[in-house]
Amino acid sequence: MKHENKSIHEFDMNLICEYFAGLQRQGPGSPEMTIKALSFIDNLTAESQILDLGCGTGGQTMVLAQHARGNITGIDLSPAFIDLFNANAAKLNLQERVKGIVGSMDNLPFREIERILSNAALMETEEKIKVEESCCQVCGIPMGGNDELYGTEKDGSKNKDYCNYCYNKGELFKGTMDEMIEICVPYMIEGNVVKSEDEARKMMKELLPHLKHWRSNKNMSGAKLMEFDLIWSEGAIANIGFEKGLNHWKDFLKKDGYIAVTHESWFTDCRPAEIEKWWLDAVPEINTIGHNISIMQKTGYIPIASFTLPENCWIDNYFIPQKARQEEFLKKYADNKTVEDMIAFMRREADLYSKYKQYYGYAFYIGKKI
Ligand code: SAH
Repeated sequence: MKHENKSIHEFDMNLICEYFAGLQRQGPGSPEMTIKALSFIDNLTAESQILDLGCGTGGQTMVLAQHARGNITGIDLSPAFIDLFNANAAKLNLQERVKGIVGSMDNLPFREIERILSNAALMETEEKIKVEESCCQVCGIPMGGNDELYGTEKDGSKNKDYCNYCYNKGELFKGTMDEMIEICVPYMIEGNVVKSEDEARKMMKELLPHLKHWRSNKNMSGAKLMEFDLIWSEGAIANIGFEKGLNHWKDFLKKDGYIAVTHESWFTDCRPAEIEKWWLDAVPEINTIGHNISIMQKTGYIPIASFTLPENCWIDNYFIPQKARQEEFLKKYADNKTVEDMIAFMRREADLYSKYKQYYGYAFYIGKKI
């Protein structure tokens, strides 16, 4: 049949999200395995910051929250999943510690400046600090309609957005926000704007993120990254790639912080061609557990533990709950060929699992950042 040749990547993302939104989990796993992985992690306190990447509707996140201290931020690309995630957190009265936000695991929104911008209290101050149009949009100096202070283009004409220190002959200030703050502090004291350096820094930290330059400065090079105590990710790292994910996420971990991820893995060195082809289509970098552990070592983690997920994680928690969903979906989208193909794909995934489960599955990989 034609659908047998389709890969999961060919189906409409909205359809896939709608299908999985009606299920408690979007991937194989179980509360017992989440708790087992958590048992290897010994650095958590009530102040800890935890990330759950590709959190889906939060099946594993809520288990994590009930067994670990600290605050958890769930990140997922799908706004529908994040809405359900936050509703699930509220149902369990975990909303103070568990928050879901829409974002991408390959471009995590946790640079210091983004934290400032997303801070609700500061959003309110934005209303209060009326950032005048005539302020330089890099350093905040009021230019008060004074031509002399305006920035200059290459051809010498004036630019009213910036002062001539920050924008001179078409050259825009290239430093980081912290560097800009340090440049401004002595002037603020000299000009009696503030009494102390600390006061100056505090004021600048509140003001600068509201200025155009910093708001639109996409690369924010040099901006400090937020560091987490633990990064969790079940059934999702394949979306960015195992090695790439471990590398990128490491930047957001404290030294000695932990990573705990599940990833599709071969359990044996050789396997039948039929299952090899299926998985190479779905997850091209699928590899053996030994190889994946060596990638953890290569990317700067000490391997702490690794174990395979038992069958019930797939059968009881992933395939069986899908059965009723499949019937519902086929009814709702009667005569829709794409939906029929998608359901056929899901059913084939389940059939292949029962035929070849000794060759592959998910493994948990727990590592500690060096
Ligand atoms: N952790 C959940 C969901 C796993 S399914 C569970 O085990 O039940 C994979 C999830 O990754 C989906 O929710 C999907 O929307 C999300 N995802 C895919 N690509 C992503 C990306 N680039 N950034 C963030 N989330 C992503």
